Amino acid sequence: MIDAIIIGAGYGGMSVAALLAHSGRRVLVIEASNLIGGRASTFTDEDGYTWEYGAHSHRLAGKGIANQVMNRLGEDIKFTPESKDAKLIFKSSLWDRPEGPLGFLTTKILSFSSRITLLRFLLKIKGANPYDWYDKTLLEFYRSWFHNKEVEAFLPLFGMTIMCPDPSKVSAGEVIDFLQRVLAAGVGVGEPVGGSKQIFSKLSSHIEKNGEIHLSEKVTDIIIGNYQVKGVITDKGKYESSKIIFAARLPLLFDVVKEEMFDKGFATYCKGIENSSGLSIDFITDEPVSTIKGGILGVDIPTWVKFQSNSDPSFTPPGKHLSTWGIMLPWGFDGDPEEVDKAEQRLKATISSLFPEFLPKIKKERKLVVHVMNGTVLTPRQSKPNRPDVVCKDIKGLYFVGDTVRGDGCSGDISFSSAMKVADHICK
Ligand SMILES: Cc1cc2nc3c(=O)[nH]c(=O)nc-3n(C[C@H](O)[C@H](O)[C@H](O)COP(=O)(O)OP(=O)(O)OC[C@H]3O[C@@H](n4cnc5c(N)ncnc54)[C@H](O)[C@@H]3O)c2cc1C
Repeated sequence: MIDAIIIGAGYGGMSVAALLAHSGRRVLVIEASNLIGGRASTFTDEDGYTWEYGAHSHRLAGKGIANQVMNRLGEDIKFTPESKDAKLIFKSSLWDRPEGPLGFLTTKILSFSSRITLLRFLLKIKGANPYDWYDKTLLEFYRSWFHNKEVEAFLPLFGMTIMCPDPSKVSAGEVIDFLQRVLAAGVGVGEPVGGSKQIFSKLSSHIEKNGEIHLSEKVTDIIIGNYQVKGVITDKGKYESSKIIFAARLPLLFDVVKEEMFDKGFATYCKGIENSSGLSIDFITDEPVSTIKGGILGVDIPTWVKFQSNSDPSFTPPGKHLSTWGIMLPWGFDGDPEEVDKAEQRLKATISSLFPEFLPKIKKERKLVVHVMNGTVLTPRQSKPNRPDVVCKDIKGLYFVGDTVRGDGCSGDISFSSAMKVADHICK
């Protein structure tokens, strides 16, 4: 007998399956693709390069939400040593990223009076209740007290930390919640040694002790009788269970269950979910381009950068160097190749101005157009209290996991957090 069927083998589906298997439930994970990992999938090729589907970091490293899942399994994510040389791109220059309030007070990025305003703004963030601000934007929060334009131009940094740089779009409550957690934890991001495959191999080993993972098998229908789930039909067979965990993005739900089965407001919300898109380029060089080990975030350009092989040489064969540069595609990106070209040119112009030696050294590059990066952009409409609960209200035995539902944190953390919530609900 299968206690729970999990649809999707991304961070969310694999985490909930591992947690359930660990607590004695028999699980079946069904994944349409031929790889585990979903949007965080990774593979090492025959030449020894590890290719990730874009660079993946874990907010708050060992104190973060991904590691909470691992700790429940009796595991720990092994991170590369924390580097203290993270940078920012602002006004076409590279700056040391200020760490903590003292860092913001002493940075030369802004004028002295702006630094004082920024510090006062950070104090407001520290003292605010996120629940008072989820439905407001960061710009509204800022303008409730401050009018300094130089600091306003710096606000995208705080939105960028949760992947929604536009202060007029990002939920203030989400930014407040994240920055308060950073202040409490006192750590930044962590890079898992060997990338996401370390996490997936740990999760897989727990699942395989009490269940199975079927790859290259697509769920086509969730079987429902009397508003109770009974099982699933796939392109290869039929499986029965009284608990189904849909661990893919909510907009895909109506591919496997009729929309009419759900409350109208829920269906309308799911169909209107806005995600972010990006362009991610991996560059291989024979020589190092920089010694930076920490990440780089853009303030006035929506960019993120990682020189993976500087902090983790296991990503490349000896003597080769890998860095990944990402840039967000415009809001509502619909696949227009002209937008991709524009983003690529902007990214490469930024690379050239910051590292003039870089582009001529490139031996190989891999370009990924990522149509869905974060399943949910953290706008007020899509902020935590407004996202659907992990337990389906309309159909008994149906649960939701992933980065479009009501989990904590942002990006992949929402998937890890929602996985723990569903495991708790099923095991209580
Ligand atoms: C380039 C890039 C960089 C990122 N960087 C970070 C980062 O640094 N930090 C961070 O926290 N997050 C990051 N993210 C976001 C993070 O990757 C996602 O939030 C997370 O991977 C989502 O996991 P998930 O399990 O919710 O969904 P997914 O990974 O989308 O998994 C869902 C799975 O369901 C499968 N599926 C769908 N329908 C069916 C079906 N009918 N039958 C069977 N299987 C099905 C899909 O194939 C997929 O594998 C990044 C994302 C991208 C793309």
